[in-house]
Amino acid sequence: MWAQGRIGAQLLSRFVGLQRPMGLMSWDGSRRGRATLISGQMVADQILHGLKDKIQRLETIGIQPCLVPVVVGQDPVSQIYLRKKLEAARAIGLRMRIQHVPAEVSSAELMALLDHLNRDEHVHGIIVQLPLPSALNAIDIGNAIQPAKDVDGFTQQNLGALVQSSEVARLSILNHIPCTATAVKKILEIGLAGHDWTGQRAVVIGRSLNVGLPIALVLESDRQNGGFDMTTTICHRNTVDLGASTRHADVLVTATGVPNLIRPEMVKPGAVVIDVGLNRIKLSDRVKLVGDCHPGVWDVAGYMTPVPGGVGPCTVASLMYNSVLAANRTAIRLSV
Ligand code: NAD
Repeated sequence: MWAQGRIGAQLLSRFVGLQRPMGLMSWDGSRRGRATLISGQMVADQILHGLKDKIQRLETIGIQPCLVPVVVGQDPVSQIYLRKKLEAARAIGLRMRIQHVPAEVSSAELMALLDHLNRDEHVHGIIVQLPLPSALNAIDIGNAIQPAKDVDGFTQQNLGALVQSSEVARLSILNHIPCTATAVKKILEIGLAGHDWTGQRAVVIGRSLNVGLPIALVLESDRQNGGFDMTTTICHRNTVDLGASTRHADVLVTATGVPNLIRPEMVKPGAVVIDVGLNRIKLSDRVKLVGDCHPGVWDVAGYMTPVPGGVGPCTVASLMYNSVLAANRTAIRLSV
């Protein structure tokens, strides 16, 4: 098996956040489940570790770290994400000041609000909750956030810094890496600690500017700049014969929002599968949250993130991390 062979049995005992999946239904209906589960919550706890203390230290010098999510309208999925962020913020003592805006808000009005928040010295991080109503251009709105407060890392400046991936960009006080990309980075670094990914093949399915593309950039960029040095392929909705690409992946990251897109026969045996997709599917009696992978993928992969409980908690934790970092940079600026 690839994962055993490449990583080595002696390293397996050192892994953090790994659990055998319990009672998973395999795709042919039998109870099996072979892949080792990477617990997102355990990785998230490592990301969150120490943030509470950092916040308390900042408060002693008069800085109360504050994140402002701007919520346009009443999208029900947005509300779920928001609740998760609130829970995480409460747990570490981060102040979160939610700014509700009616769905009919004009672009100019929303930009004016962001301008006001940019100038507010008590606000350290700003996010605009997606999706936005179709009348608003998410890229233009995102770019109106001051890069130092853009804790989602979506602005031209922060994404540009990730593309350049230079030392200057990495150390710049303005740079925030998008949270799903940080989540995938931490899952590999913490959840599968001790493994050298250099030169291995990564396939990322999905090329959105806020999710798929930044993940691919982090995987392909060079190690001295905080990347993984992997040989990375991006696939998308027009990729012909998706399986022909995915079957080569040592690390397969899927971020499409299409349930059951990744079937067991599309996965290299023993591969690491990171399922970023979050899809609500209606069953006869309830709504269920699933990823992009068919349950049978658990029988083929070596390591896999579950949905829910995989990438999601790590993404939220990364947002908390970026928010505290932004407040910390304020402290550094004030001290010079
Ligand atoms: P998006 O709609 O902007 O992008 C989807 C991408 O998937 C596109 O690049 C598209 O080309 C590709 N795609 C769609 N259908 C495909 C197909 N049949 N074959 C191959 N590629 C296909 O969505 P997004 O904002 O990038 O989010 C993607 C998924 O990730 C969604 O399910 C979203 O809910 C989830 N998400 C999860 C987290 C988390 O924390 N877990 C965070 C953000 C987004």
